[in-house]
Amino acid sequence: MRPVRPNKAKKLDRAPRARDSIRPVRPAPKLGRHNQCATDAAAEVASTRAEAEAAIAEAKKAHDRLVEAIDLLPEGIVFLDSDGRYILWNKKYAEIYNRSSDLFASGARLQDTIRVGVARGEYPEAAGREEEWIAERLEKLFHPSGRHEQKLSDGRTILIEERLTGDGGIVGLRVDITELKQREESFRLLFDGNPVPMIVCARDNGRVLGVNAAAVQHYGYSRTAFERLSIRNLQAYESETPWAGEGQSSEEKAARTWKHVRADGTLIDLAIYSRHLVHNDQPAVLLALMDITERKRAEARLAFLAQHDALTGLPSRSLLRQQTDDKLIQMRRGSEKMAVLVLGLDNFKSINDTLGHGVGDRLLRGVGKRLRSILRQEDIVARLNSDEFAIVQGGLARPEDAAQLCRRLLQAIADPYLIDGSSVTIGATIGIAMAPNDGDDAEKLLKNADMALSRAKTETRGSFSYFESGMDARAQSRRKIETELRDAIQRDVLQPHYQPLIDLVTGRITGFEALVRWPHPERGMIPPSEFIPIAEETGLISGLGRSMLRQACSDAAKWPDEVRVAVNMSPLQFRVGNVLSLVMDALKQSGLPASRLELEITETLVLEKSGQVLATLHALRALGVRISMDDFGTGYSSLSYLRSFPFDKIKVDQSFIRDLAANREAQAIVRSIVSLGKGLGVTITAEGVETEAELRCLRAEGCHEAQGYLFSRPRPNAEIVGLLQAQRDAADGAPSGKAMVA
Ligand code: C2E
Ligand code: MG
Ligand code: MG
Repeated sequence: MRPVRPNKAKKLDRAPRARDSIRPVRPAPKLGRHNQCATDAAAEVASTRAEAEAAIAEAKKAHDRLVEAIDLLPEGIVFLDSDGRYILWNKKYAEIYNRSSDLFASGARLQDTIRVGVARGEYPEAAGREEEWIAERLEKLFHPSGRHEQKLSDGRTILIEERLTGDGGIVGLRVDITELKQREESFRLLFDGNPVPMIVCARDNGRVLGVNAAAVQHYGYSRTAFERLSIRNLQAYESETPWAGEGQSSEEKAARTWKHVRADGTLIDLAIYSRHLVHNDQPAVLLALMDITERKRAEARLAFLAQHDALTGLPSRSLLRQQTDDKLIQMRRGSEKMAVLVLGLDNFKSINDTLGHGVGDRLLRGVGKRLRSILRQEDIVARLNSDEFAIVQGGLARPEDAAQLCRRLLQAIADPYLIDGSSVTIGATIGIAMAPNDGDDAEKLLKNADMALSRAKTETRGSFSYFESGMDARAQSRRKIETELRDAIQRDVLQPHYQPLIDLVTGRITGFEALVRWPHPERGMIPPSEFIPIAEETGLISGLGRSMLRQACSDAAKWPDEVRVAVNMSPLQFRVGNVLSLVMDALKQSGLPASRLELEITETLVLEKSGQVLATLHALRALGVRISMDDFGTGYSSLSYLRSFPFDKIKVDQSFIRDLAANREAQAIVRSIVSLGKGLGVTITAEGVETEAELRCLRAEGCHEAQGYLFSRPRPNAEIVGLLQAQRDAADGAPSGKAMVA
């Protein structure tokens, strides 16, 4: 609504305005010529009048300019006289009170407009207490002090500021703050109802100005207790406020991590987001506090797990490497030496298989604990893989100091472990590499200690061995053998040679033992002792075993019906678990009757005594396959194994046959094995018979069967037919039992 110029105004179609009260001055009457005095006086009057008119016109102009100026203001403005009567108001004022503007008129009293407004229900706050509200309003009007807010019936909120003017009148300002109020309300809702704990702090000293319900609940302080604190009181370590050093923009600030103390004294980790704002006219900071205690804990746990072995809690290989390298760097300054030990548990696999993984795990934990307990804090113990640990000890003067440590470690491990009420024992073997001589980084030292361990395992289990420079070359040649063996198995180069088994009563060949041979293009015939252990360690034994079994069965199928074939089986083949189907396939393919196949197994297999292995052995026997115990007497409790499975044959290890004629102890042992065999109804076969004297002794003790160079060396299949023919020819003559000597 634009102001209407008074001279153009005909009829007021708007609220009356203050300017309407200023009327143009009426023109003065003209004077006669006959009275000069009167004329002069009249002239003077006229001039005075003209001056007055000019002054009035000027005042009117000024008034109009004022009206125009106040109309431009964004706030509503009203001038009242000392009685509270309207003098002047602007367009915005009339707009704000649009519902009451019909009441505005120069000289009208504001209190009357208020009264009418109350009666019309314009002021919802007055509802029910109209007189009281009006009295309060007038009190504020005539004795203004600061600002107050007023609600209008259409939902708007008006900020009112009134002041007394110099002439005792009143000037009043009106600002429509509806939007601001709505924003404040949404902020309050967002703040109070937010599930994220929030705190508003004074920007200068960090005093808590407000907290939301989530913060009260999360910290455990009451709201009043909270509001007596400073943010610094909540912080566990930091003394500066979370917004220290920040500018004052209202941009939300990225979180940093803080530790706070709760009312109950517990510490929490927080990511704090801050935003600068004004709170109750005061520079303040709104803090949103994200509790990341759980996440931090999980992260720490993950970091620990990544660097530690879950079972024993010991450092893993990667952490070991890192710590060892750090130690090496420190060591470079002095002349001291450092020992890197790799400790392997002996026969851990069989404990796992026979007593179960639960026991195995507890044993490993026990070993880890014992190792840790006898070392100094600064020494490192780590778990490298299933049954290997590494120990790093610095500050040694001589390599021999490592030997002393090894002895203590071996002794500590050897004491029995009480697990589930039973006592379990385990031995260990250690390989040693010394820094700086055997390597200057963790990886190299571990590799060399590992090589020393492999050597110690093959030579002196249960003890320790130092790395020597030649080991590297040996390990390399071993890797070469491994590659070549893999290739040889793939190309089916390996072949069985056959060594006869002789019945000592009839002197006839009862069967042949298949012994694997590897014809190597450069090295000639390689004996199994050189590659079977490698095949077992690398898993190549499965393919090798399958191939031997097939060839032996198909060769034997072409031999006379009464001649059997014996095939050696590695314990590892049983662990893979497919021996039964392997045997059935070989028999089926070759057409060899099961009764003509013997499988030779060693004590280590029976040692495992696992239900699965025994079930396979029983199933094989049920097929008609015969099961022999090979190398009898070399294990340390051979006799007890005989109880666990009804073997068809026992093969006495050649170490008992050597010098049998001269060695009374050996004779006594063979004698008792023979009588044991008779008692159990099991065939007893002597291995490695080389001399007539040994043969005589065996006969005298009543041994059933023999095998050895005295009769024949292992030969290729092509020669076996000839050998059997020779037997048939000799059958006409008296059996000497030695007919087949090569
Ligand atoms: P074993 O099963 O006890 O085989 C007997 C070993 O004694 C054979 O050694 C044989 O050549 C040797 N021998 C036989 N008579 C005499 C003798 O009068 N004097 C001496 N000094 N030795 C004699 P070989 O062929 O070197 O085999 C060694 C071991 O390798 C075998 O011991 C067996 O455990 C293993 N082996 C051989 N072939 C296979 C196979 O196909 N599979 C598996 N898993 N192991 C095999
Ligand atoms: Mg054998
Ligand atoms: Mg043997």
